[in-house]
Amino acid sequence: MKCPSCGNLDNKVIDSRLSEGGEATRRRRECVGCGRRYTTYERIEEAIPLIVKKDGRRESWDRRKLLQGLERACQKRPVSAAAREEVADAIERELREGGEREVASSEIGEKVMSHLRELDQVAYVRFASVYRQFDDIGEFLDELQRLGQRVRTSERLRVPPPTSRPADAPRPADAPLPRRDEPVE
Ligand SMILES: [Zn+2]
Repeated sequence: MKCPSCGNLDNKVIDSRLSEGGEATRRRRECVGCGRRYTTYERIEEAIPLIVKKDGRRESWDRRKLLQGLERACQKRPVSAAAREEVADAIERELREGGEREVASSEIGEKVMSHLRELDQVAYVRFASVYRQFDDIGEFLDELQRLGQRVRTSERLRVPPPTSRPADAPRPADAPLPRRDEPVE
């Protein structure tokens, strides 16, 4: 480490501690030449892997592109910019922790979908329909069906049973009117 004041390469460490939640080691150093004190941080190198596209081309990770895709999928949906940033953070973390040097773009797509599915189902379907481009329509339809079942189940839970309709509620238009002159059997 070169001293920022005199350029001397010799220094001694006078203090060493963890910082950034244990993700870096902070060291106070003192230049042997001029006595200047300065701080260095040491971190584990964790790079985001290269993205391998369908045609085999490699691209470096582009967070902005991911955020643009998320924004498009979430248009007019109740999803904040902060929530989209959190999805991007989570995906970047997963990619770093995966420790691979390269990762298929399809794997990124799957990650985005799994996060969107939790965040907003409409955004999820939009993203999935664009992302998968109907390459595998069977899989996509299965997913839509699973999604539909979940939505129907949650609706059923919210809608009160018909017996709880108040007595003075308007009768549905297609219900037959009761007939008083009908013999009771
Ligand atoms: Zn110095």
